[in-house]
Amino acid sequence: MKLIDTNSILELWKNADCVCFDVDSTVCQNEAIDDLAEFVGVGSQVQQLTNEAMGGSMSFKEALAQRLNIIRPSIDQIHEFNKFQDHKLTPYIKELVELLHSRDKAVYLVSGGFRVIINQVADLLGIDRKNVFANTIKFDSKGKYVGFDESEMTCESGGKARVIEHLKRTYQYNRVIMVGDGATDLESCPPADGFIGFGGNVVRHLVKQNSPWFVHCFSELIEKV
Ligand SMILES: [Mg+2]
Repeated sequence: MKLIDTNSILELWKNADCVCFDVDSTVCQNEAIDDLAEFVGVGSQVQQLTNEAMGGSMSFKEALAQRLNIIRPSIDQIHEFNKFQDHKLTPYIKELVELLHSRDKAVYLVSGGFRVIINQVADLLGIDRKNVFANTIKFDSKGKYVGFDESEMTCESGGKARVIEHLKRTYQYNRVIMVGDGATDLESCPPADGFIGFGGNVVRHLVKQNSPWFVHCFSELIEKV
C-alpha cells in the first residue's frame, strides 16, 4: 500500500514548507546508540537487547531505558564519542539542508536518539538546535549517567508522529515531509503530508515497499527540489 503516488510526492517535495529528517542511518551513516555502546565497551549486550526489542513486545521507552541502563554513558564519554561523529554525515545531506534553507523551508531533525549527540550534527548542518527533537540523557553534577527525560515526545512509541503533529499545530505548516530509513519514520505519515524513504545507508524492505518515493542518495532530492 502506497500512501500517495509518486507524482504527488514529487509535487509535495517541491512545495514543502517543512522537512523533517530522521538522524540514525539517514542524516548520519551510523546508528548512534549502537556505536555509543561499542564505544563504552558494551556493544554486544546492547545489540542483543536491540534484536529482542525489534522482535516483539517491548515498548520503545522500555527498550531505550534498558539499553541506556547498560551503556550508562558519562558526559565525558559522550564528548569523546562526539569527536568521531563529524565524519559520519551521509553524502550530500549538508548540500541538501543548505538548499532547503536557501528556499526558506524549515528543517528539523527528529530522532529517537540523543540530543547531546544530535546537537553536534545540527551544528554541522547549520540547523538551529531548537529544531532538534530527540531524547535527553540526564547526568548528575559530576557528569554521571542518571537516566533520561521521560517527558520528551521522542521517548515513546509513535513519538515522531507526535512531534510532527506538534510542529503542524504550533507553526501552521501546510506541507510537512518526513525523510527516513525506518518503520517509525514511515509511521509518522500521516500526520506528515508526505514520506520519502531513504536507503543510502541501509535498505529496510518494509520501508522501501511502502514509500511513495524511495531514494538511495540525497542528490536525488537535490535534483528535484
Ligand atoms: Mg533511522
